[in-house]
Amino acid sequence: MDAKRVWAEINLDALGHNLASIRQAAGAGVRIMLVVKADAYGHGSVGIAHHAVRCGIGALGVGTSAEALELRHAGIRVPILVLGTVVDEELRDCLGYDIHLGLHAGDRARTLAELAGRMNCKAKVHLNVDTGMGRLGIPPARALSLLEEIHATPQLELAGVMTHLAATDGAQDPQGMLQSAVFDRFLAAARTVTEDLGWVHLANSAGIFTGLGDRYGTVRPGLAAYGVLPDSIDHAQELRPVMGLRSQIVFLKDVPKGTPVGYASTWKAPEATRIATLPIGYADGLPWRAAEGGEVLIRGQRAPIVGRISMDYTTVDVGHIRDIQVGEIATLVGSDGGQSISLAELANHAGTIPYEISCSIGRRVSQLFVGGEQIAVPGQPAPLATIANIPSVSASAANARAGRGV
Ligand SMILES: *Cc1c(COP(=O)(O)O)cnc(C)c1O
Repeated sequence: MDAKRVWAEINLDALGHNLASIRQAAGAGVRIMLVVKADAYGHGSVGIAHHAVRCGIGALGVGTSAEALELRHAGIRVPILVLGTVVDEELRDCLGYDIHLGLHAGDRARTLAELAGRMNCKAKVHLNVDTGMGRLGIPPARALSLLEEIHATPQLELAGVMTHLAATDGAQDPQGMLQSAVFDRFLAAARTVTEDLGWVHLANSAGIFTGLGDRYGTVRPGLAAYGVLPDSIDHAQELRPVMGLRSQIVFLKDVPKGTPVGYASTWKAPEATRIATLPIGYADGLPWRAAEGGEVLIRGQRAPIVGRISMDYTTVDVGHIRDIQVGEIATLVGSDGGQSISLAELANHAGTIPYEISCSIGRRVSQLFVGGEQIAVPGQPAPLATIANIPSVSASAANARAGRGV
């Protein structure tokens, strides 16, 4: 492998494995809309999307129109939904590239209809109903009249009806069950307006693995596909982490007892020891707070981060590892020998959630795709027309697309 300063190793086989788990939890007939917002939570949305389409997922969810266009330009043809909303300036591109849009306001419905009329197309919208998240989405009491308006407007196509869970534990939390019940009531009323509601979707990862996956026809997993779930949810152990984060030792220094290391001299060597410097810092996405209790793996052994993490560098106490050399690989997230450090463990030390870490992996970090030769989701052949547009999804192809060598 071509070691760099810092690289995120993206394991496409782990992605396939996790998609198969999601498929099993959601049921065979359920459409998977893989959420790839924020560059697929920092995993590289183009490489992830190509492999996921090969594994048979039916749609993609993104956060912004720019993310949707990046996928279109990379040859992704499956339906793409902007999960939240867009600003007016993004509308033209969304219509031009056949991007589905969440909708929760009448004035937006009218703007969209007018623009679609001028562009001679239809705007595909997913009515977003607020069942308890309290953020985007229209309250159920007002959603029915918006639904009627969509239904009566020829330039608008009702492509779906959606809601989003506030509960982070899905149906294990009474709030999750309550939201699902509110959504069910709304759907019953909506079906008196039209039988064809398009895709109906509620479940994120936590929802899928707590029994809400097969209740509606479509699910929207993000985190679980990348191998992370709250520990409180069964099945968390079945998933495989997709991202590893690695660097290499650039400098070794023997220091006497009492030597201060790093900004503000917050750490002083309690004994004579050896300090390794790694060329990864908080600008690369390693959280500044992770210095408190954080560890890395070198040669299958744990080594504590010491002193403050700086913008470009991190220092590690390696006094207990014999004959260590410059150039040896340090694993910040992932496995090495029998040991492994999960995103969740790192997040724990940093006092944050795993998503925030993977999303913060900076632009200086190269993505190196591995695996991907095998299609891991059984019984879910991808649509042939889609596959025909994708010459190959192996790791080397994903790396080549990203302009990187393996
Ligand atoms: C991010 C997001 C998801 C995915 O959530 P996970 O917890 O990562 O599975 C699903 N739906 C919407 C609307 C989202 O914004």
